[in-house]
Amino acid sequence: MPGPISPFERGEGMRLYDQHGREFLDFHAGVAVNALGHGDPHLVSALKAAAEKVWHTANTFTIPEQERLGQRLVDATFADAVFFTNSGAEALECAIKTARHYFWAKGETDRSDIIAFTGAFHGRTLGTIAAGGNPDYLEGFGPAAPGFKHTKPGDLDAVRALITPQTCAILIEPVQGEGGVTAMSAEFMQGLRALCDEHGMLLILDEVQCGFGRTGRFFAHEWSGITPDIVAVAKAIGGGFPLGACLAKGDVAASMVPGTHGSTYGGNPLATAIGNAVLDRILAPGFLDQVNTMGQRLAWHLQQLAQKYPDHVLELRGKGLLAGIKIATPVRDMVTRLRDDHQLLTIGAGENVLRLLPPLIVTEADIEEAMTKIGAAFDAIDAVNAAPATGS
Ligand SMILES: *Cc1c(COP(=O)(O)O)cnc(C)c1O
Repeated sequence: MPGPISPFERGEGMRLYDQHGREFLDFHAGVAVNALGHGDPHLVSALKAAAEKVWHTANTFTIPEQERLGQRLVDATFADAVFFTNSGAEALECAIKTARHYFWAKGETDRSDIIAFTGAFHGRTLGTIAAGGNPDYLEGFGPAAPGFKHTKPGDLDAVRALITPQTCAILIEPVQGEGGVTAMSAEFMQGLRALCDEHGMLLILDEVQCGFGRTGRFFAHEWSGITPDIVAVAKAIGGGFPLGACLAKGDVAASMVPGTHGSTYGGNPLATAIGNAVLDRILAPGFLDQVNTMGQRLAWHLQQLAQKYPDHVLELRGKGLLAGIKIATPVRDMVTRLRDDHQLLTIGAGENVLRLLPPLIVTEADIEEAMTKIGAAFDAIDAVNAAPATGS
């Protein structure tokens, strides 16, 4: 039953079903949000239980689920302080404000410049489109918020050249998602940490897409062995419920006392009850090891695909279950073809990269099935190209 899909009606694990009952294999996961796939029984029961209790009180009052989630994140990571948001962009806004306020409170009031990177994506608010620096996302929205300088990732000398006494922080995604699935090397991440230490700057990481287990570690930056000062997370943290967080070291967050920043919904009882349920699963013994193994299996299968289809696969990118295939044909067409003709859900990224972001519960059988579907799509393209031209 080929043809355009109808809206999804139901989901189970790695699969989504549209209104016609057609089954789709999900390597899109709501853009890395559905870390535990669809309809996870533990998350469903957590939401149902939370729905019977208090939905919302605002942060005027103590929210036990929020305190518990914050404490668990502190226990599991580098952070001493957590601020909850409803989205990734808000987590980045909090990160940027925290960095600037840290220096302001120290009396370094004009130290507010942030070095960021080309190919970055940090969200769609006025602040985060300026931080991302993508001209397509800035166009038409008035003057860009000041205080951001950009250079290409991977070049430490270029970063060094941008540092001035006004520079307060470096902001980077350890694996760029939207921009083209580019994983930073451990050496580059360590070099950025060293530059921040040398110049008394803060290192802010955007782990909204690559964090929360996606690369096979809790945070992607763990692969480089560095400790950041501030990390923004979202997407997988709520497993599909809108939730984000800004994590920071204690001294860095110290000046962000009540009143300096805030959010009405951020960390509300419903959201943080689900956040706790997601964390139950991700921190369960063996879960991240399994994600890591699947990330390695995906990389291996992608290499096989690249060998079989050298004319289609130009480059393999990414880390763990955030994988990219730079392809020779337009990625938009490929995403549509995979969805409509092969019932595989994927997403494009910059630089004509096909992005694969399966839920973290993916099995090797799912990976093999996805590879078969992508191979079949390449075959179909080749068949069209090989067919003798019709008409005059
Ligand atoms: C999705 C994303 C954001 C923005 O998150 P929203 O929830 O859409 O605001 C920021 N940074 C990265 C790396 C992302 O992938």
